[in-house]
Amino acid sequence: MTGVIPPGANLGVLGSGQLGRMFALAARRMGYRVHTFSPESDTPTGQVADVEITAPYDDLAAVRRFAKKVQVVTFEFENVPADCVKAAEEFAPVRPNANALHISQHRLREKTFLSEKGFPVAAFRRVRNLQELEAALKALGTPAVLKTAGFGYDGKGQRPILSPGEADAAWTDLGGKEAVLESFVDFACELSVVAARSANGAVANWGAVENIHENHILDVSVAPALTPAPGQSKQAVEIALEVLKALDVVGVMCVEFFLTKTGRLLVNELAPRPHNSGHFTLDASVTNQFEQQLRAICGLPLGAADLFAPAAMANLLGDLWTGGKPVWARALALPDVKLHLYGKAEARPGRKMGHLTALAKTPVEARDLVLSARRALSTPIKPKPGPLNTTPRDINACD
Ligand code: AMP
Repeated sequence: MTGVIPPGANLGVLGSGQLGRMFALAARRMGYRVHTFSPESDTPTGQVADVEITAPYDDLAAVRRFAKKVQVVTFEFENVPADCVKAAEEFAPVRPNANALHISQHRLREKTFLSEKGFPVAAFRRVRNLQELEAALKALGTPAVLKTAGFGYDGKGQRPILSPGEADAAWTDLGGKEAVLESFVDFACELSVVAARSANGAVANWGAVENIHENHILDVSVAPALTPAPGQSKQAVEIALEVLKALDVVGVMCVEFFLTKTGRLLVNELAPRPHNSGHFTLDASVTNQFEQQLRAICGLPLGAADLFAPAAMANLLGDLWTGGKPVWARALALPDVKLHLYGKAEARPGRKMGHLTALAKTPVEARDLVLSARRALSTPIKPKPGPLNTTPRDINACD
């Protein structure tokens, strides 16, 4: 195969969070070297990379020096500025391509692209001022959701509008920035499909995953998805693969969907990188999403994406630390539960610190198991009387 970047090569990652960390671990396992670039130091990615470069994304001279030393550049979050990607591209291919990144880092561009290509999306309008917002509310009706056009994730930069009278307040709340007004979707569930595509058009995916959000942040993912009929899951996969093709993605992309109560699939969001809803693949699949990203960007054949077993993932947010350090041994006492922590020193509310994965015979059992494992982390244990009792202190000893 031509254009293969073989093990031993240096790979560049723009960004330094947990996605970069898990990518770097997959890459190092296969003998690659990883350079990470971000404005921070001692980062989740930097802790496991070969080289950690700390510089702002707009220090283009530093970006060029970084790109000169690597054979390919990828990114682990989509808010990398366009100029940074352009500077990197002068010296190494950036995968997925800059256009896929440009489209998915801006809600308005994303929705316009999707609807122009005929993909199903919720009704939306571009909003640049209060008058346009009022007109959009007339056209779409309420309830609706106002979202800033750029730089939004995990529900940041969005506000529901329940009646037309809230227009003024909503516009002020979002800072008067260019926005998208979207019809409120009465969904039966939220789904995602994480898929990989290589330069020769080969694709792999892990099927439709069902996602439950808490305060707009992903909380739990269950694979395979429980709510949709098999035909609906299959259709979600087909749409996702078409999106990857339309954007000529080389790498991994996540396509998030709403499944409406009337059985329609609507694309909600694109992420041109491995995704939180694909973390279960680390423990449940022959090839996980990070290895698949590595294979795709290095021109290697994609691996099998079959699942060993139904699985569920639960995020561990900083909130879990509120009452003291979680007692890890309690989750690990369940043999089908796996713990992943991202090496972040400070546990802030809403911050993704790690996740648990559970494997079981059915997706429902996997979901229940991962939830009980997470609950156990912060539940106080009452010491039992008797000489052979296991005290909380014993259990705490290996947290
Ligand atoms: P987003 O940042 O656009 O992915 O939104 C985060 C979460 O907000 C989604 O996963 C949904 O749970 C909810 N949400 C976003 N847009 C809508 C909508 N149009 N209708 C109903 N819920 C929404």
